[in-house]
Amino acid sequence: MDPLRLEIESRRDDLIRLTQDLIRIPTLNPPGRHYLDICEYLRARLAPQGWDCALVRAKGSPGDSEPFPRWNLVARHHGATPGACVHFNSHHDVVEVGHGWTRDPFGAEIDGDRIHGRGACDMKGGLASSIIAAEAFVALYPDHPGQIEISATADEETGGYGGVAYLAEHGAFAHVDHVIIPEPLHKDRICLGHRGVWWAEIETHGRIAHGSMPFLGDSAIRHMGAVLEEMERSLFPLLLTRHSAMPVIPQGARSPTLNINAIHGGEPDLGPDFTGLPAACVADRCRITIDRRFLIEEDLAEVKREVAALLDGIKAQRPGFSYEIRDLFEVVPSMTDREAPVVRSTAAAIRRVLGREAGYVVSPGTYDQKHIDRIGKLGNCIAYGPGVLDLAHQPDEWIGVQDMLDSARVMALVLADILLGDSPGPAPVA
Ligand SMILES: [Zn+2]
Repeated sequence: MDPLRLEIESRRDDLIRLTQDLIRIPTLNPPGRHYLDICEYLRARLAPQGWDCALVRAKGSPGDSEPFPRWNLVARHHGATPGACVHFNSHHDVVEVGHGWTRDPFGAEIDGDRIHGRGACDMKGGLASSIIAAEAFVALYPDHPGQIEISATADEETGGYGGVAYLAEHGAFAHVDHVIIPEPLHKDRICLGHRGVWWAEIETHGRIAHGSMPFLGDSAIRHMGAVLEEMERSLFPLLLTRHSAMPVIPQGARSPTLNINAIHGGEPDLGPDFTGLPAACVADRCRITIDRRFLIEEDLAEVKREVAALLDGIKAQRPGFSYEIRDLFEVVPSMTDREAPVVRSTAAAIRRVLGREAGYVVSPGTYDQKHIDRIGKLGNCIAYGPGVLDLAHQPDEWIGVQDMLDSARVMALVLADILLGDSPGPAPVA
């Protein structure tokens, strides 16, 4: 058996313990709890093994405050001689627990091959796998050339501005050559990138009047109804006619999509505890929030123009119609070339470990690759890690121990390939 495989399999119990420890630190975001605890835990593990560990607070980033500071850890293992730098980036935050759990969300219970808990799959299992991969590699090749980095970063679930974006803005990727983000994309798949995002708020205007005489006012809600009707009539069908060459999963996301996140109009919602009656008023404001996901083949300016043209078309025909549109957030699509070195190396390692060809996918939603690509100016970046993507953010989320071991082997082989020039070579007989 190859030495890296032996080295990783001998660390099975350690991998389980590490994953459990990480799950038991409830790094809930929002609001951003226990970020310092998880960074200090990782530093206490890695620093005694010779890793240089820096704790970086994203001071002043969105969400950063004294009660909820945005802490990040960057650990670096210096090799004996110069060479490439391979960086594993995981986010350490997890989303809210939600309802429907049959397990303790922060208990890290083991059931057969599975470890359960919030963040088990997205993505503390991936973080643990990359640590075991790097530790096993360093144990076998302590004098390796180049550098290995492991980062555990904040706020991916809320945009990554207190995490990877902050690090990238402060030059953390300037010397990095290869990035693997161990998000749960399945152990046999390489995620090359993601679609683009545009969030905006559209507001229609009206005039308030007594609800018994609505003809004296002008209903902003009815104007918004015209907007929604026109979207149903022309925009949604148009989006379905477009298809991406990006291998986006699931299949439905190969067309552009539009979601209407929210609609608010008229009197504010006074909540379930309010026992009074509503007042009789014509709504003078109505707002929707739209979430438009676009393809690499689409241009963001054109995506925006399309919606503006729809609204202007209504304005030209509908008396009293006026609107405002406000940008909230945008991310351009990102897609790493299949011939990029980190892709080729990971594909070869998957072939060697699993005895099958790697699948190539693109994520329907974004993740921290956007910041590494746009701010860090590093295109040689993929997401690769253990776990079933569909379990992310679900109740009873879990990660498989065997999947973690297999993907740790893949990650360790990538290190060997890139840092030692030891190509994994052709597939062995399964
Ligand atoms: Zn994630």
